[in-house]
Amino acid sequence: MCPDLIVDAHEDIAYNMLTFGRDYTRSAAETRQVEAASASQAIEHNGESVLGWPDYQRGRVAVIFSTLFATPLRRVTGAWDTQSYADDKQAQRLYRTQLDTYRKLTDQTPDHFQFIATRTDLETVLADWNDPARATHPVGLVPLMEGAEGVRSPAELEEWWQSGLRMIGPAWAGTRFCGGTHEPGPLTEDGRALLEAMADLGFTLDLSHMDELSARQSLDMYEGPIIASHANAAALLPGYDGNRLLPDDVIKGLIARDAIIGVVPFCRFLKNGWNVGDRRDDITLATVAAHVDYICQMAGDARHAGLGSDFDGGFGLSAIPASMDTIADLQNLGPILKAKGYHNEDVSAILGENWLRHLRTYLPA
Ligand SMILES: [Zn+2]
Repeated sequence: MCPDLIVDAHEDIAYNMLTFGRDYTRSAAETRQVEAASASQAIEHNGESVLGWPDYQRGRVAVIFSTLFATPLRRVTGAWDTQSYADDKQAQRLYRTQLDTYRKLTDQTPDHFQFIATRTDLETVLADWNDPARATHPVGLVPLMEGAEGVRSPAELEEWWQSGLRMIGPAWAGTRFCGGTHEPGPLTEDGRALLEAMADLGFTLDLSHMDELSARQSLDMYEGPIIASHANAAALLPGYDGNRLLPDDVIKGLIARDAIIGVVPFCRFLKNGWNVGDRRDDITLATVAAHVDYICQMAGDARHAGLGSDFDGGFGLSAIPASMDTIADLQNLGPILKAKGYHNEDVSAILGENWLRHLRTYLPA
């Protein structure tokens, strides 16, 4: 029997292609070599890559929610960050270019990557992965907008939908729509208008990065499907004092809305106070499994936990669990969960099937 398929609900692929020239048809190992030998600023600012198509093949990573992400100017840390914006007009242009980047990537290398905007697109990719006669498989990319400043007005959502965008997280830092990471605040009037228009079109709302207050308000008012693509449980990091991780009541709210939460295998989200450069021998895939288990215990089932690695998203090899080298090692989570008593179906659900259920339910035909 083939190992389970993995769905990873968060990777900044276009950002890395455009900022650092990363070529994700290469393996992570090859990217590390190329960047170490060149003047690339990627390793300094983003760590050593842990992603690449050959690694997706080894790890059976079949579908990725691939982000559109750009940085507001006030949060830029250097001239290397070319994907930054001063206003919504610039943001719109950058986000649009990133979506076009996925179209180009999938048009030019369809054996490596395929664009997913419909259920048919999804089933085409999955049929390939489930075909034992095929040695390699295209990875499906579902675009996900992270930080909605790329949407200038709710009226523009229709155009985004037509271009194949299906998922939007209104926050990264705070936006004109809501409070965000390090920038607390409620949903604004613009935010409420955005959410209403998103629900009308059928967009999935990603609560990751939303401040707790705006997340709670969104859980109350949003009428479309909800997820948290990449966020861990705050309660498992004693002493944690930020607004990036999920408090218990928000996790409960997500479960009540049949949402799925993508657990992030990033050391800083697994151990309070951990910083890049710190030792990490005590942070392993077992720690990641504990976060998965926390959500499953709270839900009373395994239908609401998934993976949202955020790999290559501002951190690299030195900031992922000690037991990992590339994304392919996420497969090792399976035996750890089974040793905890999880059934095979539950492990499949956590590694990928939960996200696939969401996509099958909410992507247009
Ligand atoms: Zn993020």
